[in-house]
Amino acid sequence: MKVAQLGSGTPEIAVVAGVHGDEPCGVRAVERLLDERPTVERPVKLVVANQKALERQVRFVDEDLNRAFPGDPDAKTHEGQLANRLVEELGDCLTFSMHSTQSHAEPFAIVNGVSETARQLVPQLPVAAMVETSEFAEGRLFTRIETIEVECGLQGTETAAQNADRLTRAFLTGVGALPGDTMHRELPIYRLTDVIRKQEANTYEVFVENFTKVDSGDPFAAADGNTQVAEEPFYPVLMSSNGYRDVFGYAAEKLDVLTKSTAAD
Ligand SMILES: [Zn+2]
Repeated sequence: MKVAQLGSGTPEIAVVAGVHGDEPCGVRAVERLLDERPTVERPVKLVVANQKALERQVRFVDEDLNRAFPGDPDAKTHEGQLANRLVEELGDCLTFSMHSTQSHAEPFAIVNGVSETARQLVPQLPVAAMVETSEFAEGRLFTRIETIEVECGLQGTETAAQNADRLTRAFLTGVGALPGDTMHRELPIYRLTDVIRKQEANTYEVFVENFTKVDSGDPFAAADGNTQVAEEPFYPVLMSSNGYRDVFGYAAEKLDVLTKSTAAD
């Protein structure tokens, strides 16, 4: 784990990259901040989490770090120990953690609950949606540390790295660490309700777009040509044909849309 700081004093905000070793976009954003060392109005902690996995370009070494919290100093796995150290390092910091996916190119935010902080900050980020995942939170960083996660784009792409950079700057501006103003966006909020499992098969297809409503009766995916049809309407989130081993993604419900005017209040 690499830890650095912008500005002096005890940071109350942190930017975390590299929770997953095969998602390099956030690391680029953190490295750029370290190169440029912008003058900050509040100190910021910068963390590159799973360096061992990043070096190997794998998601994790022993287990998924974002399912390993709170971790344990005596854990048998690399990530179990790392989770414990990361929790100690981040303490009370409001944390911004960057990820990328094989599922969706456009950035969106993931939160463990729609808190006041989330309602106030997330509309200032260049994201298309906020997804509340408290039903599926076990072992994740934000069960221990107040965290806004962002999905920056498609894993390994230059666009995801550029998005990570823009997202980080918007976050740091929104919390008053960097000077300037942010733009408030209209922001739909979704809550994950179900896992969409996939059977073992050779070929997988997904027929629907993330965040676009699927009506009951609509075919949404297929495994070896066997089509799955929606029994109830849902919004697909993190759906991809080959992103995960045993699930296509998640079903979500739409909770709310934060309008520009309420977001700016
Ligand atoms: Zn990730």
